Amino acid sequence: MADAEVNKQLGNADRDLVALGIATAAIILFVATGSSVVPKAIDAVFSDGHAPDHLLINALLLNVVLIIFGWRRYRELQAEISERRRAEGLARELAEIDPLTSCLNRRSMKSATEALCEDASIRGRAVAYCMIDLDNFKQINDMHGHSVGDAVLVELAKRIEAQLPKDASLARLGGDEFAFITSYEAGNRDRVDDLVVRLFEQIALPFEQEEVTIDTTISIGVATDHDGTEFHSELAAPNSLMQRADIAMYTAKKQGKNRYFWFEPTMENELRFRNELEAGIRRGITAGEFVPYYEQQVDLESGELVGFEMLARWRSDQMGIVSPEIFIPIAEEIGLITQLSDQLMDQALVDASAWDESLTLSINISPIQLRDPWFAQKLLKLLVTHNFPAQRLEVEITESCLHENIGMVRSIITSLRNQGVSISLDDFGTGYSSLEQLRTLPFDRLKIDRSFVSELKEPSGTSKIVDAIVSLGRGLNLPITAEGIEDEAILKALKAMGKLKGQGYLYGQPESGEQVRERLALAGKLMTNSANATNNIQDPNTVEIEAMLAKTVNL
Ligand code: C2E
Ligand code: MG
Ligand code: MG
Repeated sequence: MADAEVNKQLGNADRDLVALGIATAAIILFVATGSSVVPKAIDAVFSDGHAPDHLLINALLLNVVLIIFGWRRYRELQAEISERRRAEGLARELAEIDPLTSCLNRRSMKSATEALCEDASIRGRAVAYCMIDLDNFKQINDMHGHSVGDAVLVELAKRIEAQLPKDASLARLGGDEFAFITSYEAGNRDRVDDLVVRLFEQIALPFEQEEVTIDTTISIGVATDHDGTEFHSELAAPNSLMQRADIAMYTAKKQGKNRYFWFEPTMENELRFRNELEAGIRRGITAGEFVPYYEQQVDLESGELVGFEMLARWRSDQMGIVSPEIFIPIAEEIGLITQLSDQLMDQALVDASAWDESLTLSINISPIQLRDPWFAQKLLKLLVTHNFPAQRLEVEITESCLHENIGMVRSIITSLRNQGVSISLDDFGTGYSSLEQLRTLPFDRLKIDRSFVSELKEPSGTSKIVDAIVSLGRGLNLPITAEGIEDEAILKALKAMGKLKGQGYLYGQPESGEQVRERLALAGKLMTNSANATNNIQDPNTVEIEAMLAKTVNL
């Protein structure tokens, strides 16, 4: 019910006509009958006069009863009205205030924005709408539970509120998303910049909650209703301010989080492009547009082909061949990486089953996939389905996987290794793996990132980092693969470092499944029919995996 209507009803109740009518009539009657009865009664008592008429006395008494009744009804009504007012007030508060943080909510933020914009335009001031989002809230909830997550949100709201100027309003728009609006002197954005910097400083202080200390960061997007010193009414609509601040905040997230941006019109195009990519990826998965390509892996000493690394490609209708560096991070973000990777692995296992048994297949696994406790079982089941020997499969994980739940990563790696799959640490040196992790996690191989290998191109033909990684591998008894071998000079330098595997454009660009098949046919390295037949008699290891899977779960 609309607030105005409720108030009207309460106002009517306040002036309840029945009660008022009864009380007024009773008082008039009381005065009328009283003025005739009381003098007669006094006369009867003191001067022996006639006692007042019984009928009049009864009428007087009835009046008294009516006045008492009217008064009581009036009191009851008053109590009822104040109770209803209190309940209505509470309901209004619940509709406008976020119960957890006591900030405004999304609904009331809209009216607060309208009010501030109006007030600021009268005073010739500009309005800034700041969208704030915690950078790792899901992780806080997952690791410490929802009560700690809630406490962090309450504390966050307090810290923001404490920094805001008087005219500002803070709202929690949902989850870990907050927004505030404030006015500032048009053309003097620095005031907002200073405020935002103070917020970053406050949030950088640790959050001490229930005996845990949480470090967190925020990303902020800011939109204004002014272009320089010029006010633009179309920029001042609450929805437009909110949307633009949101786009700017999204840009801050994309640029690495823990930062802020003022909205720029170009951001809108980027967002549109990104949305198109997302929609394209969804369509592409259904249409089977994602295909495995393969890069040769070679024994550097003998120059012999030892296997292939599968690299995903998107054969997009609209964009042609798209690099995994563009679509993998998006697929990870929108929760489609598992589906995408399953499709690719399935196809890669079909392709690799036709290759000579001596050739290995390496696949890249995203950190998100390692969050699935059943990942190892699912992968092993896929091997069984394709009757592909686990010994021929190599799983490449990057150092960023080690930031995930390390216990789970260890158990996945161990399950895979127990069945014969090898595990490589990819792009080694570009992330933050510790020596401790290298020592305790059962890796089978290190892959030196091509950014280090390319240093060998320099006339000196040396790279201190490549040298160091090769010695580290030797010390830890981990074989090494060098990525990005682009020319003979790099190859020569690497060969001088000992027995390594390598890959790179010197041996050819990644190729499609059909191209690899042709290449292998020419080299006589396709599985022969007889070998294929033997392969169909189940590999003893496959039988073992099947038995193990049957014991675990029905996936
Ligand atoms: P990566 O696993 O380190 O793969 C090697 C990348 O280096 C490939 O890029 C490859 O084309 C490129 N490369 C190989 N040799 C040379 C060279 O000599 N010079 C230069 N400049 N580049 C070379 P690509 O295919 O664009 O893949 C990029 C990254 O995307 C991969 O890096 C991998 O991390 C990721 N990726 C690819 N496919 C998949 C996939 O199916 N799943 C997941 N999770 N990630 C994938
Ligand atoms: Mg790789
Ligand atoms: Mg790599």
